[in-house]
Amino acid sequence: MIFKILGCGTSTGVPLPGCKCAVCLSKNPKNWRSRTSAVIKARSDFNVLIDTSTDLRYQSLTHGVEHVNAVLYTHAHADHILGLDDLRSFNFTQRQIIPCYGTRKTLSEIKRCFYYIFEPDQEYEGGMLPQVSLNPIEHYRPFNLEAISVQPFLLMHGRTEVTGFRIGGLAYATDCNSIPNRSWELLKNLDCLVLDALRYEPHNTHFTIDQAIAIAEELKPARTYLVHMSHTVDYDEASRKLPEGIELAYDGLEIPF
Ligand SMILES: [Zn+2]
Ligand SMILES: [Zn+2]
Ligand SMILES: [Zn+2]
Repeated sequence: MIFKILGCGTSTGVPLPGCKCAVCLSKNPKNWRSRTSAVIKARSDFNVLIDTSTDLRYQSLTHGVEHVNAVLYTHAHADHILGLDDLRSFNFTQRQIIPCYGTRKTLSEIKRCFYYIFEPDQEYEGGMLPQVSLNPIEHYRPFNLEAISVQPFLLMHGRTEVTGFRIGGLAYATDCNSIPNRSWELLKNLDCLVLDALRYEPHNTHFTIDQAIAIAEELKPARTYLVHMSHTVDYDEASRKLPEGIELAYDGLEIPF
């Protein structure tokens, strides 16, 4: 399977429109970060999306996502859910309802935000609404998507609960600034850890790059990729300072696992 990073930017994306900082003006494509999202490519025609980011349409076109067979939601912050309406394109081509998975809390926030999909007005006029089903999951209760076994685990993002996912030897832990003990146990013996690291300066809901490095050095996955970076992180400059085995992710990065 391939784990592909569709976006590794923070909630604003990078560059920020109008910002004249060195990273936002940089010509390095690795400093061009769309909103954080990923896809698990199990087969050429079986893809599991993690979150429907604000940039889903652009990411799908840029990174060759031609099917979406299921969506795993980490949490309901805008940068992770607002591309949900763009699932319609896949409904048109696949002619199937797309199952979406998240905790009850995440799904209830999605329902509130996208009320027009889930409580349709009888008088609704217009094109087809997204055809999705909402399927509740619980942390630490593994489930299967065809042959893929998914282990959801709890992360804390300030006071917000976020769902991380372990699939085989890979774990995806975006949007977090603490890892509960029970989840920590699930993050041992990994081949690959994809971990939140917003910037160098402290933040009250995200790990910093130094905190992410400390976690990677304790958990010792074979490889660690950092995601959800802000425009204060220059790819080349930050990469030079990272220890062996820890790298910044970039949009389009493919991780075989
Ligand atoms: Zn986010
Ligand atoms: Zn900037
Ligand atoms: Zn968030």
